Amino acid sequence: MPALPERQSSPFELQRRALVATLQQRGITSAAVLAAMGAVPREAFVPAALSMRSYEDSALPIDNRQTISQPFTVAFMTQELQLDRPSRILEIGTGSGYQAAILCCMGHHVVSIERHSLLSQKARTTLKLLGYDVQCRVGDGTIGYREGGPYDGIIVTAGAPDVPQTLARQLTIGGRMVIPVGTLQEQRLYRVVRTGEESWKGEELGHAKFVPLIGRSGWEDLAG
Ligand code: SAH
Repeated sequence: MPALPERQSSPFELQRRALVATLQQRGITSAAVLAAMGAVPREAFVPAALSMRSYEDSALPIDNRQTISQPFTVAFMTQELQLDRPSRILEIGTGSGYQAAILCCMGHHVVSIERHSLLSQKARTTLKLLGYDVQCRVGDGTIGYREGGPYDGIIVTAGAPDVPQTLARQLTIGGRMVIPVGTLQEQRLYRVVRTGEESWKGEELGHAKFVPLIGRSGWEDLAG
């Protein structure tokens, strides 16, 4: 009997599987996060000229001098949102749209805000093409989007000088925000949990290095 032909995996699929193994080795334990990282094609969010580097565990440049975050950072921040049921999520800094796709793939309802309209437009096109239903908005994410909230999770993917109070107030009680806070050069990653109507508690999760969060409750001076 002739051997059955084996299903061919694309090189990207193999690399994606290897990346998931790396993420596991580096300490990502959430099965839901690992499944999403193994399902979303990162190559679709990376500039074509860099697509061969899509599954390196590193940040890569995108348009407008911004970056698509390192896969480990995406997986870690998503895990640290501690989402155990389908939730409403607000992302600040759509960038390439990759982080939003991961959250959407996990079954969450995602609103994502980007200050550069070109990036938002591109991300919207990619997300739509892949079938990820993300609500993309253009604007200053430091003021959030109250009309779409309150949110069970807020993920800020740019470095802030402080926790924007307006955003903290758009969390549900029990809701969590994961945000890098620090200087322009480096930040610490925090999880801010809204514990009551007027109370929040913060936990430090590690160090981080992000492009700046530019806006009214961000690095205001850099806005141009
Ligand atoms: N989450 C992205 C990576 C984002 S890089 C991804 O998965 O690819 C950070 C992004 O935040 C940049 O695109 C930058 O333009 C955007 N940004 C910075 N300040 C912002 C603000 N106040 N509101 C919305 N987006 C902002």
